[in-house]
Amino acid sequence: MKVCVIGAGVAGLASAALLTKEGYEVDIYEKEGMLGGRALTIDNRISYEEYTRLLKRFDMYVPFAEPSLKEIFDGLIGDYKIDLGFHLIGGGENASPLRILSSLGIKQDIVGSRIGFIGEKIDYPYLSAGDKLKMLPRILQLLFSRKETIKALESVSMEETIKKYGKGKMKLTLELFPRLITTVNDLSRISTGETFWAQRELMGSHPVSYPAGGLNSIAKNFASWIENNGGKIIHQKVDKVIIENGKASGISAGHEKYYDVIISSLPVQDTFSIADEREFPREWAEKVKNLEGSGSVCAYYALNELNENLIGKAFVFIERNADVEGNDAVGMVDFKMASPESGMSPPGKYMVQAYVICTPDEAKNMKKVGMLRTILDKYMEKLVPRYEKKMDWCIYPVIWHLDGVAKTIDNEKPAVSTPVKNFFIVGDSTNAKGVGINCAADSANLLMKEFRK
Ligand SMILES: Cc1cc2nc3c(=O)[nH]c(=O)nc-3n(C[C@H](O)[C@H](O)[C@H](O)COP(=O)(O)OP(=O)(O)OC[C@H]3O[C@@H](n4cnc5c(N)ncnc54)[C@H](O)[C@@H]3O)c2cc1C
Repeated sequence: MKVCVIGAGVAGLASAALLTKEGYEVDIYEKEGMLGGRALTIDNRISYEEYTRLLKRFDMYVPFAEPSLKEIFDGLIGDYKIDLGFHLIGGGENASPLRILSSLGIKQDIVGSRIGFIGEKIDYPYLSAGDKLKMLPRILQLLFSRKETIKALESVSMEETIKKYGKGKMKLTLELFPRLITTVNDLSRISTGETFWAQRELMGSHPVSYPAGGLNSIAKNFASWIENNGGKIIHQKVDKVIIENGKASGISAGHEKYYDVIISSLPVQDTFSIADEREFPREWAEKVKNLEGSGSVCAYYALNELNENLIGKAFVFIERNADVEGNDAVGMVDFKMASPESGMSPPGKYMVQAYVICTPDEAKNMKKVGMLRTILDKYMEKLVPRYEKKMDWCIYPVIWHLDGVAKTIDNEKPAVSTPVKNFFIVGDSTNAKGVGINCAADSANLLMKEFRK
């Protein structure tokens, strides 16, 4: 069977690897010169023009930088590396891309950490042993509920769950982590069931991690395994999926080529940029076109001095009454990129990444973005007093399509199989487990289940 995978992001690569492993003949088409999609690492080989072009391709912009973005990319960037924006993987060793890589015999090293909290004072880790003991019975009751119980909680909002269970530190925990897990601030839109599914899946490992060697090493690991095992990566844009009478049979990428199965890893809302909408039932098409992604305002602070105690750690914050949807804005400041194993900071320098959650509309609103940047700077200052004096440069990338589809009660993520025969979708837009990179990689597992059927 000949399979065509469109897109070499985490989802496309993970799917291609699992298909190659099962003996399918796989061609991956990627329109960019680089691999990794939104999980992309950038260094001084990229020019200012190329960087701003990439930002546009991935629904991003950089509204603020110090000094200007041009000066940074014209030389100041030095040997620092950055990703498209803040990136951590939920669940450390248990994260979906790591499990898939491990099933291929590839060990992806990580820099993992627990999570601290920036409040009146700074707590690291956020939950002490005493807190855990106090909260444990309730958490275990929720985490180990029967599958049907969690399923029933899928339509219950976190807001309602907090009213029922939220007291003391448990309340703060339920206000923080569901937001971090979904990249959505509005607790009335976050599903309790979804949050617990995600937690259950990732238990027993570091809560968060960053890949040693940089985020892009995930894509590189997948790509070299695929190519060593007979798969092909072709740097060409797919213009069209050939669909006739409700059945996909090939693609056009400069020339036409025929395949038994076509798999798209584009954000699902973009499906009809390559596939004729009239071939899909109207209801399905309207639904996927209107699904909403998630957004964030990120910061990269390139520092030439840092307290060693912070290296490798991650800290969350909650800004109350922040004038965002959901009222409070949750975010993180992370020091894993500052560790030598990450490969993102040159010797004696420290890359620090931060982000605060917002909606896609808020990400496009300059007034809101300016206000969210102030919040990031405030929490950075709490962790690294007078950080501006230790800074080589900083940039603030903003994204309004972080997740293909936000995991909320009102956004039902589509399945990997579509109404068109032999045409599948994978990626963080689908109803796979987790969000972001975890969801993208896990969609490959869902795809394999469909294939085995
Ligand atoms: C700024 C930012 C911060 C993020 N932070 C986190 C985080 O902290 N944790 C987390 O888990 N996730 C995070 N994410 C989300 C994560 O990066 C994505 O969920 C994941 O990378 C999506 O992978 P994917 O393969 O589904 O899609 P993509 O990475 O978008 O891959 C799709 C690929 O298809 C290619 N393509 C598109 N059209 C065509 C065509 N016509 N022909 C050929 N190729 C095509 C694209 O170039 C791309 O390479 C973040 C994303 C961004 C942008």
